[in-house]
Amino acid sequence: MITMIKDSESSRNIKFISGKELNVLLNFESFEKLFLYVFWYFCFSVIGNFNYFFFALHLSDVAISIKTLTTILKSITHNGKQLLLTIMLMSIVVYMYTVIAFNFFRKFYSKEEDGELEENCQDLFTCFKFHLYIGIRSGGGIGDELESPVGDDKEFYRIIFDITFFFFIIVILLAIIQGLIIDAFGELRDQLEQVKESLEANCFICGIGKEYFDKVPHGFEIHTMREHNFANYMFFLMHIINKPDTEYTGQETYVSQLYQQRCWEFFPTGDCFRKQHEGDLEQN
Ligand SMILES: [Zn+2]
Repeated sequence: MITMIKDSESSRNIKFISGKELNVLLNFESFEKLFLYVFWYFCFSVIGNFNYFFFALHLSDVAISIKTLTTILKSITHNGKQLLLTIMLMSIVVYMYTVIAFNFFRKFYSKEEDGELEENCQDLFTCFKFHLYIGIRSGGGIGDELESPVGDDKEFYRIIFDITFFFFIIVILLAIIQGLIIDAFGELRDQLEQVKESLEANCFICGIGKEYFDKVPHGFEIHTMREHNFANYMFFLMHIINKPDTEYTGQETYVSQLYQQRCWEFFPTGDCFRKQHEGDLEQN
């Protein structure tokens, strides 16, 4: 079993382990991310000495350090693949509309402003760019930005073109992108809340519920602060990491081997000192 640090300072020491350090110790992937972040931070600090413009990027540290803001950032990257694929699909649909517009509705794309003729669809690339940049940003779709088709031979087709563009791109695809981000935010917030609730209702180390500890002497608070303080487990792991493996005791070797495999079997799941001595407690 694990040697507990029984001094009264142990609960105070929890504050010294920040979220970043905890990730570094337990999760190598996070360590890589943290390293990359610090590396870019350093690079921009150096470049900033040549051009002050780059110092502005250091403000992103605010978003990284405050946990609530990190959730907002994560909600964009959480469904990153799905988001990128949806944007790709949107570009493809916009391209299809561009091809139709380029072949049949090119005349509606010329605008005269201050005596100058502005051609927005003289080649396929300009046309695509116009649809992407102006079409998607207009609240009512591409139809908002084109010449009115009233009285034209192609009026009926233009109406179908404008309405379907509005429906598929603005109403459906843009809303899906928005929905993906908002859903991810809700999901992450729920996850955080679940963790918080579970930490308040169960012991982090043994997983035994609050109801059990409140029936026996001392209660849940003392159990999570003294007997199963997860900071003590952290200290023990740090102690093992820093200690030369030739000097390990039997228990330390056992835990170290499991830790190397990221196997958490040494945690007393469903068991604790109080449960083992339940009979003795009752007799007393
Ligand atoms: Zn416990």
